Amino acid sequence: MIDPFGRHISYLRVSVTDRCDFRCGYCMAEDMSFLPKSDLLSLEELERLCAAFIRLGVTKLRLTGGEPLVRRNVMSLIEGLGQYLGNGLEELTLTTNGSQLAKHANGLAMAGVRRINVSLDTLNEAKFSSITRWGRLSQVLEGIAAAKTEGLAIKINMVALKGVNDDEFDIMLEWCGREGFDLCLIETMPMGEVTHREETHLALSEVRADLARRWTLRASDYATGGPARYMEVAETGQRIGFITPLSHNFCESCNRVRLTCTGTLYMCLGQEDAVDLRKSLRAGQDGEALEAAIRRGIAAKPKGHDFVIGRVAVPRHMSVTGG
Ligand code: SAM
Ligand code: SF4
Repeated sequence: MIDPFGRHISYLRVSVTDRCDFRCGYCMAEDMSFLPKSDLLSLEELERLCAAFIRLGVTKLRLTGGEPLVRRNVMSLIEGLGQYLGNGLEELTLTTNGSQLAKHANGLAMAGVRRINVSLDTLNEAKFSSITRWGRLSQVLEGIAAAKTEGLAIKINMVALKGVNDDEFDIMLEWCGREGFDLCLIETMPMGEVTHREETHLALSEVRADLARRWTLRASDYATGGPARYMEVAETGQRIGFITPLSHNFCESCNRVRLTCTGTLYMCLGQEDAVDLRKSLRAGQDGEALEAAIRRGIAAKPKGHDFVIGRVAVPRHMSVTGG
């Protein structure tokens, strides 16, 4: 699949649920209303949709949310999708808050998942509770340890928050180095109404310059097909990535589209353009009609987002489209 700007679309991110057991301040409002369960695609429908994307050339699938591992029976979807590995699909992965990892790490490894992203913004218990509102740090650390034991490669996603965790970049880099994890720093993106976003926004260009005073950061051509730009940290042998949608736009190399748990295909995280795939799917049109609907979406992929801090780019929260 090639979009109007010549970008090959080979990466599908699937938000399997908009629900979550945490309420991170930059992602969700405390009193979020969620979709009625009847609006959700079944796991079997999600698998059929993913299969159509794989037929059309998607080689990488990432499950996200909301929290993917809180969806009931999600492991059956993961096992089902695992069957496509080596059969068109090259990588099956997920982004998780880690709360359910202790339970599922083994199942993930058995299904063919090789690497995962775990979101962790701080190693300080009190701060963790305040950022996630409902989360417990010890539970996440146990989950991460279980995933490591299963041999899953782990990348830690840390949203950089001014005045909240900006004193912890060194600590996190050291910890990741010791544990053998890559670290990826993320700038907050203006999605959905939440509190304090403007005060906490931090430009990662400044963070990188500051880190370079204490760490030897070497340019790296490592790329995962994602928006992060990586550097090698000579002292630890691990990598640090920077996702900088605001201070450096990454759209020119975008290779992805995003599917929500209701079957809406969003062509861009920061734009409203969307195609409803549920109708074709429920009409039993898994073949040509569904593929034509997917192609219509790809043909409408916008050139890029226009995130600016201080203005909500899209009203939907990150948990709807899946970050
Ligand atoms: N619940 C899972 C988790 O937290 O990893 C998966 C979904 S979460 C929406 C995916 C990623 O988006 C997380 O790393 C989270 O930190 C990030 N995220 C959420 N809201 C964001 C925002 N407004 N700006 C930047 N990153 C955000
Ligand atoms: Fe939940 Fe992930 Fe959003 Fe936090 S960032 S509220 S863990 S979906």
